[in-house]
Amino acid sequence: MSCQKCKTQPVYEFTNKSRLCKKCFAGYFEKKILKTIRKYEMSLSSIAGGENDVRHKILEIISNKIKTNRKSKNSAGIKNLDDFSAEIISGIMAKNIPALKKLLPKTKTWGFPLYFTSDKEIMLYAGLKGIKGSIKRKENKMQKEINILFGELEKNDRDVRHAVVNAVMKAL
Ligand SMILES: [Zn+2]
Repeated sequence: MSCQKCKTQPVYEFTNKSRLCKKCFAGYFEKKILKTIRKYEMSLSSIAGGENDVRHKILEIISNKIKTNRKSKNSAGIKNLDDFSAEIISGIMAKNIPALKKLLPKTKTWGFPLYFTSDKEIMLYAGLKGIKGSIKRKENKMQKEINILFGELEKNDRDVRHAVVNAVMKAL
């Protein structure tokens, strides 16, 4: 079982069992972030918060690779799919629909380039690129419990966080 693109040793497997090697995974990961930045016209001219967080370091690398939208004054935040999926479930449980809307990406007014990338993808990319550090997240008790639940669900479906975010994006 080899990389679907170049037939070398894989490091990553998708839910549909297709696999990617180191180089092709890094390309896929960067492309996904660039697509998010372009689609929602995000800016990477400044990165807000978490200087010691591995996500901050990844955004610095990405910002060096692209010409960012200099017109936008919004800074990029480091939160990613694992933050937003847990906050969305938390909002649903609190029946707080206005709060849910604030957790969905919006063009120009909002900037989280890692919105669609999971902790697992981020840590794999960091490992491949020799980026040291970890994801430093402050969770409240509810989010901690939701993330334990997601951890269980991800054993069978690693895209479950994506599914939650996509469903809410379609519904609202
Ligand atoms: Zn490959």
